[in-house]
Formats: sequence, C-alpha cells, structure tokens
Amino acid sequence: MPAVTVENILALPRLPLPDATAVARPVRSVTTAPAGFEGEGFPVRRAFAGIDLTLLDPFIHMDQMGEVEYAPGEPKGTSWHPHRGFETVTYMIDGIMEHKDSGGGGGIISGGDTQWMTAGAGILHIEAPPEHLVQSGGLFHGVQLWVNLPRENKLAHPRYQDITGSKVALLSSNDGGALVRVIAGEVAGHQGPGSTYTPIALSHTTVAPGAALSLPWNPSFNAIVYVLAGSGTVGPERRPVEKGQTVVLGRGDTIELAASERRTEPLEVFVLGGQPIREPIAMAGPFVMNTRSEVMQAFEDFQAGRLGSIPPEYA
Ligand code: MN
Repeated sequence: MPAVTVENILALPRLPLPDATAVARPVRSVTTAPAGFEGEGFPVRRAFAGIDLTLLDPFIHMDQMGEVEYAPGEPKGTSWHPHRGFETVTYMIDGIMEHKDSGGGGGIISGGDTQWMTAGAGILHIEAPPEHLVQSGGLFHGVQLWVNLPRENKLAHPRYQDITGSKVALLSSNDGGALVRVIAGEVAGHQGPGSTYTPIALSHTTVAPGAALSLPWNPSFNAIVYVLAGSGTVGPERRPVEKGQTVVLGRGDTIELAASERRTEPLEVFVLGGQPIREPIAMAGPFVMNTRSEVMQAFEDFQAGRLGSIPPEYA
C-alpha cells in the first residue's frame, strides 16, 4: 500500500500523548461493508451501508474501491454522469484514476493524491483508469467519499481541489509506531491541505503491527473509522476490527487504535469526522438535496442539459 510513506517517521511532528483527563471515545457500532460493483463494474465495499445517516452527518456515502489486482484489459470506470448538491472526494492509494468533466476540468490522481470535487450546482463527469492502465492491468485501490453541502452552498459554483500526496500533512504518533496523513481539516493543531465548506477532518492512518495510537480528535466532531486493510482494535474497550469494517464512535477526545501484533501487515484506517449539518436530506441517485422537489428539479435540469453536457471530443 504505497499512498504517501516516509523514510524516517521520527523526523515528523509528533502527536502528544493524551493528558490524564482525556476521554477515549467509546465504540457505538461496528458494521461490515457489503461488497458491490460501481460504474461499469469495478468492485467496491459500501462502507456506510446500514448506518443511520444522522450518525454520519455531514458524510453521506463512502466506497472503498478495490483493493483489486486487475488483469490486462480488465480495469473499469464509470460512464458520464451528473452530480449536484454535495462534494465527491476521491483518494487514490494504489493505481491511477482519471477524471474528466463537462466544464473542461479533471485530472489524474494516483499514489496518495486526493481529488476534491465540489459538484455544487451541477456538473457531469467520468471517472476511469487511463487507457495505458486498462491495457496493462495492475493494482487499483482508493476511496470515494461523498461530503454533504449545507443548504446555502448546495448550488455553489463547481470547483476542484487537486490535493497531491506531497501536500498532505504528515504526523507521527509519540513512539513512531503510527503515521497520520491529514488530508483535510485539523488534527492536533496540524492543518491538512483540503478546504471544506463545513468543519471536517479526514485522515489516512497507518498503525504498524503491534503498535497503538491515541489520536486526538476534535470533541465537537463525530468520529468514524473505516478499516482499509489489516486488523486490530478500536476504542478503549479494544473492539476487534478487520478490513472492510466501519466503526462509529461516541463522544470523547481521542480515538484509540491498535494494530494486531499477530500480523505482519499494518492496520490501515481512514478516519473521518465533522460537525453535523443537521438539515433534512433528500437524495436520489447522483443528487443530494434538502427536499424531494429539489431532487426532481435536479433530474429536470440534468435532462434539459443545465448541469452541462459531455464535451464534443468525448461524445
Ligand atoms: Mn461521480
């Protein structure tokens, strides 16, 4: 799992040990993501399946894409499709994903890069491995997260943030046993590069076999841990977790993570949280609005070409 790694973890800023009054967040639930297929048929795990949306707020959907080793000719993507009312955040750990959109934007993401797309008022895009990867096959692994927008920003002008892996804030646990990559928001006073409409924090954390981490986490945020790979425990009660499981945590100051010592592979987790938006959610397909009539309007606008159209060079 390449993502972004470092030669000497102890050269990084270190997370403080929690003080004696810090409350470790208890585990509220552990769920196992069902496997499915997205787009033209690439394998995903539906990380949030079966979890109440109010516990996830401001997040609405998350897929772990892969991890899959493609044979030559096998890599798949999506066809052109619209979005409105939220943001798609695509984080690539292994392999390459190419985006193109109706506004002439897009980009290539790989090796720990994040593409943060604010769909806002509406955009059409396509997400696919580049042609050379389709021909060669290879490893493909990433995450796509949907972040909701508050009512006042749902129709924001579409925009991209290209967050290359080199911009991500890197932190070490106090003993050097864990690497924390802050993609957006702030963790223990360290700011990640991603800019967000509402306060959230997003991190990919690697805990070495047998190591443990007490991750400081904004007490006003909710906290969700998704296991990308490996196994270990979460919470002060040391609940066992493994690849493909999602943990919703309760209130507190820190997130307790420990990697299994019986394994040689580290515990890889995507840790996310934010301040809930607490507005009604009406969603259907690629649109996430506040009311049913706004969703109907989005379908109407899409059909009328008001969310943009496929650029002629790709049509
Ligand atoms: Mn999409």
